[in-house]
Amino acid sequence: MARILLVIALIGIVVVYLWRRRRAAAVATYPSTARTNAADLLRLPGARTSILEQHVRLWHRLPAPLQERLLLRLDEFLERIPFTGAHDFIVTETMRTVIAAQACIVTLGHEHYPFDDLRGITVYPDEFVVEESAEDEDTGVVTEGSRTLSGQANGSDRLVLSWRDVEEAQLHDDGYNVVIHEVTHFLERSYPGGDPAAHAALTAAYESLCAAVDRGDETLLDPYGAEDPSEFLAVAAEFFFERPADLAVRHPMLYVLLRDSFRLDPAGWAPPPTAVGNASS
Ligand SMILES: [Zn+2]
Repeated sequence: MARILLVIALIGIVVVYLWRRRRAAAVATYPSTARTNAADLLRLPGARTSILEQHVRLWHRLPAPLQERLLLRLDEFLERIPFTGAHDFIVTETMRTVIAAQACIVTLGHEHYPFDDLRGITVYPDEFVVEESAEDEDTGVVTEGSRTLSGQANGSDRLVLSWRDVEEAQLHDDGYNVVIHEVTHFLERSYPGGDPAAHAALTAAYESLCAAVDRGDETLLDPYGAEDPSEFLAVAAEFFFERPADLAVRHPMLYVLLRDSFRLDPAGWAPPPTAVGNASS
């Protein structure tokens, strides 16, 4: 009997010892500064969902299965894609989540993670200036100049975004969304080719916008889409996600084309929310 009691007592001591060690380890790995503490908390699914609810309009419109797919893709995106603030601009967890969520939403119709070629995202606080030179094809004269941009998809491996423009796009659904625009450029360059019939239909839609702009007609799509076929696709994608019902009514063929290409049907999603919060914090 005494031996049994001794064994039980020893087991008790070992259990308490192990429990204390685990607890000590847990305390030791718990973030010590407020900054890491907050960053750690933001990795919790609840905190991420609350950023999406407060700052991403499209989150409210996604059907539940797509919300689930988004959370998984968002995890991978944030794990793999480094964000850099230009000129010491601090990119917060909220900013990363707001940008990454919209980039991922564009791709939710496709099952695989499509950002293998994306090396990083640079965020400026506001619009930024890029130096450019253009050569006149006829004369060979090179003109140096600069352009002020709200977003840029450099080659196919880096996106550059103005945070102010990202944030303003969350105020209303006016068909202006710099993240959707640049991600569409990125996807077009990363996955060239595609269905020739779809290309022909897209070219026809582009030419029809060019003609409308030349006539001076009021157009649903931003006239900037008449710049070239690539800009047309990026602009059409912004309207497809932000104003799908209007696009489906005014340009039904284009809507179907984009629906088949993105494999998403946003005209059937929930109506847009009235307002979401300011995401600067
Ligand atoms: Zn563009």
